[in-house]
Parts: sequence; C-alpha cells; structure tokens
Amino acid sequence: MRRALVAGNWKMHGSSASVARLLGELLQGLNSDAAQSDADIVVCPSHPHLAQAATLCADSAIAVGGQDCSAHAEGAYTGEVAPDMLSDLGCQWVIVGHSERRQYHGESDAVVAAKLAASHSAGLHTMLCVGETRAQREAGQAEEVVRHQLATALENRAVLDRLVIAYEPVWAIGTGLTATPQQAQAMHAFIRGLLREWSLDADGTRVLYGGSVKAGNAAELFAEPDIDGALVGGASLEAKQFLAIIAAAAQRAQAAN
Ligand code: PEP
Repeated sequence: MRRALVAGNWKMHGSSASVARLLGELLQGLNSDAAQSDADIVVCPSHPHLAQAATLCADSAIAVGGQDCSAHAEGAYTGEVAPDMLSDLGCQWVIVGHSERRQYHGESDAVVAAKLAASHSAGLHTMLCVGETRAQREAGQAEEVVRHQLATALENRAVLDRLVIAYEPVWAIGTGLTATPQQAQAMHAFIRGLLREWSLDADGTRVLYGGSVKAGNAAELFAEPDIDGALVGGASLEAKQFLAIIAAAAQRAQAAN
C-alpha cells in the first residue's frame, strides 16, 4: 500500500504573521488527532517564508517544500533559488512543473526535466506536476500531453527515486472545477500504465491529484485505487479545510489496513 501524501501549495500568499498562525493551527490540529499520522504532510510556502516554516515545523509531522527551484546548482541566475539552498533552509521537498510556472514563466517540458534533475541531485523529494489544459482535453489530447510531459521528465530514469507525480488538470486549478473521481482515476491509471510500460516502479510511485480539492470532495477522490493523495492550493490556506483533507487521506490508509 502506498502511503498517502497531502501537500499544500500556498502559492504567493502569506506574511510571517499568517504563516505562524496557519502552521500553529495545523500543528495543533495534528497533535490532537494521532490517526492523521497515517498520511505524509507537506506545506510549500513562498520562498521568503521557508526558513520560518521549517523552524516552526522542526520535529513535527509536517515537512516543508519549495514551490519551484532553479535547474542550476549555482551561478549568475538572478532571482533563482538553487535546490541546495532549499535544503539548506530545512526543506525536504520541492514542486517542479506547476502549471502556473509553465503558463506564466514559459517553462517547457525540457526546462521542467532539468529542474527535476537538479532537485534530485540535491537530494530533495520532488513533486512533478503534469496535466492538460481544457482545450487539450476537449481536443482529445489529454493523455498525449501527459505522456510527453512525463516522458521528457523521466528520460533520466534515476529521478524516479524520491519522486511523486501530481496530476493537475490545468482546467481544474483554482477554478472550482474538479475532475470527477472517475476522470482523475482514469488519468492516474494511465500514468501508472506509462510507468509500467517504461519498466519504472509503477506500483510504488505515488500519484497525487490536484485541482480544487476541498474537504467536501477529498474522500471520494481518495477512494479511487490510483489516487494516493492530493496537491492542494486554495484549500491548504485554511487550517480546517486542510486538516479535513489530511483526515480523509489518513482514513483511506486505515480502511486499507
Ligand atoms: C495547485 O495550485 O496546485 C492547486 C491544485 O490549486 P487549487 O487546489 O486551488 O485548485
């Protein structure tokens, strides 16, 4: 059984005060419910809040991750953050290939692959985001798009170690539209099939769903056999919502035992 994982992508939100408040509420909520230790939990604040978050989460059930990293280990890349710098701040995780990076920063599949290779070399656990736009889904190209994104990122087979894949249909991110559990399951099964086809660890690799996951729809998504947790945007900024999503993921693990 793959261990459930729930990650929060806080995007460009927060201040030191709100980070302290939100993490305080999350840590308190997790301390009062031991059952939730059945899920791995990651939060990804914006870069300026990472050190603070890592200090607040030290020795807790919450791991901290960056929302992006450079494809370079160091050098004259103004504004970039190297994967080693994330580790140095206390991060164990990083997200690469988020659709907002692809859309607003022109990150191609090749750039995402280079970032994944860099984060892997730095020893980080990486969440690799893949997913199709609405136009691509409507044109019947969803699987082809995801196949290309994954094939490029996983050309270097070594990166599968410490990798989690997040299927995030772009049309469901921050829109309130969620893929139905059946739509999500179908793509997750397709992704697992690709890993199998490429002789990679299909059964051991966690595949998260992301796209308007909330307390109200998490359990039905996690009931699907190939959905191993969620990458959560908006709802991860509210402790009550995020804790409920974690609880739904933990229950999935308990139901399987
Ligand atoms: C995300 O940013 O990865 C995401 C899934 O956002 P939301 O949950 O708000 O759709």
